[in-house]
Amino acid sequence: MDNALSILQQVFGYPQFRGPQAGIVAHVIGGGDALVLMPTGGGKSLCYQIPAIARQRAGQGVTIVVSPLIALMHDQVGALHEAGVEAAFLNSSLGYDEAIAVERRLARGDLTLLYAAPERVTTPRFLEQLDALHRRGQLALFAIDEAHCVSQWGHDFRPEYRALTVLHERFAGVPRIALTATADALTRADIVERLQLQDARRFVSSFDRPNIRYRIAEKKEPAAQLLRFIQHEHEGESGIVYCQTRKRVEDMAQSLQQQGIAALPYHAGLDAGLRQRHQDRFLREEGLVMVATIAFGMGIDKPDVRFVAHLDMPKNIEGYYQETGRAGRDGLPSEAWMLYGLQDVVNQRRMIDESPAGEDFKQVMRGKLDALLALAEATDCRRVRLLGYFGEASQPCGNCDNCLAPPQVWDGTDAARKLLSTVYRVQQASGIGFGAGHVMDILRGRRTDKVAQHGHDQVSTFGLGADFSEAQLRGVLRQLVAIGALAVDAQAFNTLKLTEGSRAVLRGERPVLLRESVAQGANGRKRREPRDRSALPAAAAGLTEAGQARFAALKAWRGEVARAHNLPAYVIFHDATLAAIAALGPQSIEALEGVSGIGARKLEAYGEEVMRVLRGV
Ligand code: ADP
Ligand code: ZN
Repeated sequence: MDNALSILQQVFGYPQFRGPQAGIVAHVIGGGDALVLMPTGGGKSLCYQIPAIARQRAGQGVTIVVSPLIALMHDQVGALHEAGVEAAFLNSSLGYDEAIAVERRLARGDLTLLYAAPERVTTPRFLEQLDALHRRGQLALFAIDEAHCVSQWGHDFRPEYRALTVLHERFAGVPRIALTATADALTRADIVERLQLQDARRFVSSFDRPNIRYRIAEKKEPAAQLLRFIQHEHEGESGIVYCQTRKRVEDMAQSLQQQGIAALPYHAGLDAGLRQRHQDRFLREEGLVMVATIAFGMGIDKPDVRFVAHLDMPKNIEGYYQETGRAGRDGLPSEAWMLYGLQDVVNQRRMIDESPAGEDFKQVMRGKLDALLALAEATDCRRVRLLGYFGEASQPCGNCDNCLAPPQVWDGTDAARKLLSTVYRVQQASGIGFGAGHVMDILRGRRTDKVAQHGHDQVSTFGLGADFSEAQLRGVLRQLVAIGALAVDAQAFNTLKLTEGSRAVLRGERPVLLRESVAQGANGRKRREPRDRSALPAAAAGLTEAGQARFAALKAWRGEVARAHNLPAYVIFHDATLAAIAALGPQSIEALEGVSGIGARKLEAYGEEVMRVLRGV
């Protein structure tokens, strides 16, 4: 164990292991198999990087890291290189000569870690190279990152992962560690079975991300709500905005740009080169907002993403948690903010209904959607519900919208019954269905042209809901669709239809409790003054004036180094490390030792320069 801790301190410059890392690392160094479930930002990489270094030093050879994240391998390997670790990657971005050069290093035993995509790992050519290493006892470990990709229940199924069973069969005795940040019970069981990890030790961390504040608000004017959210609360900060469709991505990116916010679009319809450039800019520049479909983000390890906004609702809680988890990897305060409205419910239900999948599969997907809808409509702690979904009990968190400003709850049972019976009666009277707006008009007793034209002022519920506001009725409607007591027929102009589930509500057997739409400002939170444009990043918040000057100088220097090495700035040093140096104001290189994030190699490479920068302030 001393060995592992000294690698953590010397190579990575961190004083101690976090959470279950120590146990995992010890188990894997000892040759055990492991399945690691840890939230995004929990520190999974070190769980295989440290065993890789320890086993290489013990003469056991190379660790093969299987990862689907081709676009990020360059930066991951760059970060190891900065820490003085021999690493390389093999993927389709390399030219023939480069790939051959990497294969030579592999054969010579020069590598500690080799990153490769699953389709590469399972080629006959690569497997033969591994055979040769295996025969010489030079195959130390397999690390299977993003292991949920093997499961069709996960949110990112990749068929190539299924072929990875060959590792176990062909290289029996070589330990394997599989890691993932998302896995509900079903996905977990699937990973174990598909990768044959029945005998692996399981390490399940708490999935809590206490520094992330969860907020879910009603969708009204998404573009304007998003703009206010960014301008008032996250001006100048890095963030990701998720949208459902490519078109919406384009529109939102443009509308933010027009308001002077540095925003870039990202979706699978853009050409690969442009996509890569946008991703690189997001990783390398500060304060960029990426507006994207879920095509963006897997493996994005930028530590200082301050917010993740969802303008449309994802499919399920796993997806939501994975995406929101990209905020605040550095542990500093961050926000997950989602807008949600009736149309989201309708769209997601329709996508399931219309998918070509079998009925069993659809049933599972509906169950998962329902769990997310319940989260969106919840009036109690969001975090308790999120963690509960992953099988973890917890107490109200004090850091979500519902904890911070408990919503008023009102009993919408009566309104719900009146709404459903109006839907029923107009259908009876006219023989066709009608949309939500019209049904609400009838209930509220509004004699619109359409109401008059169809004679719907004669319906017995006409005007019975005059006491309810339109916002209230909308809430009731959304809730009814969310719990499956009302359907929206997308094939017939979004008309409302009763369902099996309507009966229980109509009979008053199923109460309908709703959040009151409080007039609190459109984002479900009191308005704050716009922040100062020159606001310091979260890491530097507590610094004195002199400390701030040192921090600014260090950042400028780091930017130059990062550009020269073609790597993101955080790979050189995290903000938190620069802030710690700035706070310390060291007088000598020795004083830099022990600052979290400065390992031996970085001290040697950058110590003098850091001192020179500090003397110049
Ligand atoms: P994950 O892959 O689980 O999302 P990472 O491996 O990217 O997380 O780690 C998240 C961040 O936490 C990284 O910036 C990493 O350097 C940092 N980190 C990991 N372990 C430690 C530790 N023991 N001490 C300090 N920082 C750590
Ligand atoms: Zn809470």
